Amino acid sequence: MKASLAPDAYYQAILGTLREHPNLAGFSLAIHIQPSLRPGLPPKLTKLCDPLGEGFGCRRPCKVTAMRRSDLHPGLAPIVFHCILGLLGFAIPLPRPGWFLTGKGVRLRTINLSYLEELSRQNARDSYQILQRISRLPVLTKEQVRTAAGIAFDLINTQPKAKAVPAPAPQVELQAIVTVAAALDDAPSPEQALSTFIEAMGILFDVPSLAILEPLPGGREYALRPAWGDPMAETILPAAKVERLLRDQEKVSQLSAAQLNLLLPDHPAAAGTAISFGEGTGQRIALCLDKEFRNGEELLAELLADRLTARLRQLRREEELTDRREVSERLMAMISELALLDSMEELLDALLRMAAELLDATCGSIMLLDEERVAMRIEAALRMGLTVARSLPLRVGEGIAGRVAASGQPLLVNDIERDGRVAPTNRPRFRTKSFISVPLAFKGNVFGVLNLSDKRDNRIFVKEDLDILSTLTSHAAAIIHRSRQMTRTELLEQLSITDPLTELYNRRYLEKRMHEELNRCRRQDQPMTVMMLDLDHFKCYNDTCGHVDGDTALKKTARILRSCVREMDVVTRYGGEEFFILLPGTSKEEAMFVAERIRQGIEQEPFKGEEMLPGGRLTASIGIASFPDDGTTAHALIHAADVALYQAKNAGRNRTSPFRPEEERWQQKMALRL
Ligand code: GH3
Ligand code: MG
Ligand code: MG
Repeated sequence: MKASLAPDAYYQAILGTLREHPNLAGFSLAIHIQPSLRPGLPPKLTKLCDPLGEGFGCRRPCKVTAMRRSDLHPGLAPIVFHCILGLLGFAIPLPRPGWFLTGKGVRLRTINLSYLEELSRQNARDSYQILQRISRLPVLTKEQVRTAAGIAFDLINTQPKAKAVPAPAPQVELQAIVTVAAALDDAPSPEQALSTFIEAMGILFDVPSLAILEPLPGGREYALRPAWGDPMAETILPAAKVERLLRDQEKVSQLSAAQLNLLLPDHPAAAGTAISFGEGTGQRIALCLDKEFRNGEELLAELLADRLTARLRQLRREEELTDRREVSERLMAMISELALLDSMEELLDALLRMAAELLDATCGSIMLLDEERVAMRIEAALRMGLTVARSLPLRVGEGIAGRVAASGQPLLVNDIERDGRVAPTNRPRFRTKSFISVPLAFKGNVFGVLNLSDKRDNRIFVKEDLDILSTLTSHAAAIIHRSRQMTRTELLEQLSITDPLTELYNRRYLEKRMHEELNRCRRQDQPMTVMMLDLDHFKCYNDTCGHVDGDTALKKTARILRSCVREMDVVTRYGGEEFFILLPGTSKEEAMFVAERIRQGIEQEPFKGEEMLPGGRLTASIGIASFPDDGTTAHALIHAADVALYQAKNAGRNRTSPFRPEEERWQQKMALRL
């Protein structure tokens, strides 16, 4: 246990008294802080076999370490433990909340020899040595341990002033605060962060009793929930009363007995302190009863409250990012699924089903415009018979969907009855008041509308729903448009070799084309150079700017690539944000110029939100390899370009690297060594 957390002199005195008692002399006695404070405080608190020394090696859960807060309320009776091996011990809650005494280092007469054998096998130790260590422990019965624990309990509770622990002099040490602050920064969940904070208040600041005041939905009331120390009843309090406590806008406010009495007439607290925290994630108050913060303690408490607030905010942001990332991943999977469908009917049905799933909508339709762009027909419907739906007369410019088709602008309505943009006669017979309607358009030409309504649980659609839906429909519209334009055979052919987002060739095409080009170069004795390009920190770009801007950046990159190469060069999308370019008849030296042109083109191109990236700009790294020097097969050249790209990333990104075989050998060596 660290010095900063060592029990104060009062407990040292108790320990002294206990050690002198003949019934307790054989035990190793120690004072601990409640184990659930683990994240912030020294972890190795207590196990029954601790007195046998470091490295004893029993990995079974031990009842002493598993004690809960409820087992440790001051004044509760001692708890007696024994373990599978035959060791005995007890624990007694002390009057200071969160502190307890343990007595260990004694054993039953019979030791479980088969477990001992198992232990020594597991730890590759000599079982005889372990047995010797155990046999030196005093032998007691469980009953004798219970008696000894009872004696210790009486001694503790009859000590003068044992009930009212003297408020120690300003004793909160900075080192302990720093440890807890670090634990707050690392707390894996909001609950864990809050409980670390509460326990630090209880243990480090000696707060006898603490409750959390939390605003209830509606803003008129607060719930008071006991969190530490003396049990008090959960209560609902009027917001006006609670907010009066914080009128002066201080983070830490000292409260008088009169103020507390007004708030909690049933609680006899003489003084208290209110600490507010959680701004930005739901402001709450930690109400510390029977405690005044003195001599700089106030500043330290404020410091911890600030750290708690910062961690809660950060956890909230991380959660939002994870949600966004999950949606992005689902979107990407859906888009690739759509690209594989080849009948128009399947395509529209799948799109509607996916849109409804993403937005949690239960009702919806897709309408397509006719050739003259005058009338519309429902071509896919959810929770609506298609025969009836198809017979509904729909005209462009009329009704909600008609207006979306005419304007090309999406419409998000939260309350049909109140939204002035929706004329009363046009109100559809939806169950809920909220709906969303987006155009299906390709290169600015609207050819249909997708409508969704009746979000599950009567929730309303929000701006984020519109963003997600627009991303899905922009990809889907390209696929639908293409399938309307082409014959089935053309479509299948085209689909199988192009990437729908960038309209570049895909990897499947690259592999086929690379064989052809290599054969040609071999025949004509010409060089060929290939480039593999990967956008730098693109995951970060996606996470901060969102998937829609991510897609736009990919499209822009594709445009830059095409504009920097010759007609005969082949630009392909190799994977997510990776591109591969074939430059037939081009040497490595010539290709280096092209690569630099591309790299600079991307570096100089403005991308929305790129200032958030590590270098402040969206950039790319490029690896270059040439036939025949770096490889003579498609596989070998792709591998060499990949290695060169890795070298460019390793050297700091935003650069072009030619393949260097010496470095590859070195890398392989390193990999083997690892
Ligand atoms: P590095 O500089 O090392 O390349 O870092 P990075 O973040 O670019 O690393 P990585 O290659 O692992 O990240 C690729 C990211 O590209 C993952 C994914 O979020 C994103 N991505 C892949 N495909 C698409 C896509 O079709 N659209 C969008 N918006 N993002 C994509
Ligand atoms: Mg990348
Ligand atoms: Mg990548």
